[in-house]
Amino acid sequence: MTFIQLGLNQQLQDNLTALEYEKPTPVQEKAIPLILQGRDVMAGAQTGTGKTGAFALPIIEQLVKAPRADKAVRALVLTPTRELAQQVKKSFKRYSKGTDLFIELAYGGVSLNPQIDALKNGCDVLVATPGRLLDLLFKGTFDLDALQFLVFDEADRMLDMGFIVDIKRILKRVPDSRQTMLFSATFDDAIIDLSKRLLNKPELIEVAQRNATASQIEQIVYNVDEDKKRELTSFMIGSKNWQQVLIFVRTRQGADVLAKEMCKDGVKTAAIHGDKSQGARDKVLEEFKSGKTRALVATDVAARGLDIAQLNYVINYELPYIAEDYIHRIGRTGRAGNAGHAVSLMSIDEEWLLEEIEAIIGDKLPQAWYPGYEPDLTKTSSVKKNSKSAQKRRTRERASGKRQSGSNKHRNRSGGRRR
Ligand code: AMP
Repeated sequence: MTFIQLGLNQQLQDNLTALEYEKPTPVQEKAIPLILQGRDVMAGAQTGTGKTGAFALPIIEQLVKAPRADKAVRALVLTPTRELAQQVKKSFKRYSKGTDLFIELAYGGVSLNPQIDALKNGCDVLVATPGRLLDLLFKGTFDLDALQFLVFDEADRMLDMGFIVDIKRILKRVPDSRQTMLFSATFDDAIIDLSKRLLNKPELIEVAQRNATASQIEQIVYNVDEDKKRELTSFMIGSKNWQQVLIFVRTRQGADVLAKEMCKDGVKTAAIHGDKSQGARDKVLEEFKSGKTRALVATDVAARGLDIAQLNYVINYELPYIAEDYIHRIGRTGRAGNAGHAVSLMSIDEEWLLEEIEAIIGDKLPQAWYPGYEPDLTKTSSVKKNSKSAQKRRTRERASGKRQSGSNKHRNRSGGRRR
């Protein structure tokens, strides 16, 4: 299948050739014809599959066919984070080069007035985060009455971040006649519920197994003591000469501390998280992309939407509390066919989190001990007997009838690599 066969106009094809896209990715191949036919679409596509092109290309194709009325917004793309919004806008700009489409951006954390000004005559495509879009709509400088296309990008994350109320408010302001597309890395009941409200007889597109991780990513879990994680991280990056490594932690403070400590180890590292201003985040990202910094420590929210070409290594310094985040995290690597490596560092207290991840991806992840950083087997889990996690673990153990999991696993050593 080629982009010509998909029916995209010559200008779009030239732009894709300039971007060195040889052929559509699977999600593009499936979604583009359906969207061009006017169908609502619900797509389960992971990050890195080319999902932005899957909605942007057919939208652009249709927008260039007719002029925009004054003050109208013709396409609206909602994203959970500013980084993803910026990324989506950039993709629209690239794909629509040479056309006279106006692509605008609206997200919070920066002053409102320039965005009000930019939008006073409407635009062809508005990429926005939900909260800021509502602020702008309340100002009344433009409306969504003429909206033709509505896209929810990373809808699962939007729900995780509590945007459901905002989404409902936005829905009251868009016409029923619109065409709606929903993209989500994972499908759970909340997403299915949302889709029923948003979509009209949608076509379901699944390009990868549900809740599956991208197959071209090599995944490994190292059992390591919590207090050895930083040293191991710096050692792996240094000794294997890894460049552009994205490291995930759970908290903003944890991100700052780890970045500082790794700098002391001699690995140039920066942190990106929601406590930093937009300007600071942009700068950190630019330095990471250009190779000035070698490692970037991120929280889950901050990492959403980061599109960094040829990112080969992701380290889960801490396993995520929300198992779906594992899929999002490792989706940062192995993008558009590049090989990727996802390394997870798991302390004894985190074993129950791995079980949740494995339940979601429907597969066991290989575990190993990193030579020189083997866990101290005299240590036992510090997860308190009655903590939520311990209760969860006990419930699961009872349910599966095996008491072998947990700390005993560490004692089953039979050589370096297990499973
Ligand atoms: P996305 O999943 O939309 O974030 O895209 C992930 C990466 O794949 C981006 O760097 C895109 O530029 C790239 N990409 C998207 N579509 C294609 C394609 N058809 N061929 C090659 N690369 C692509």
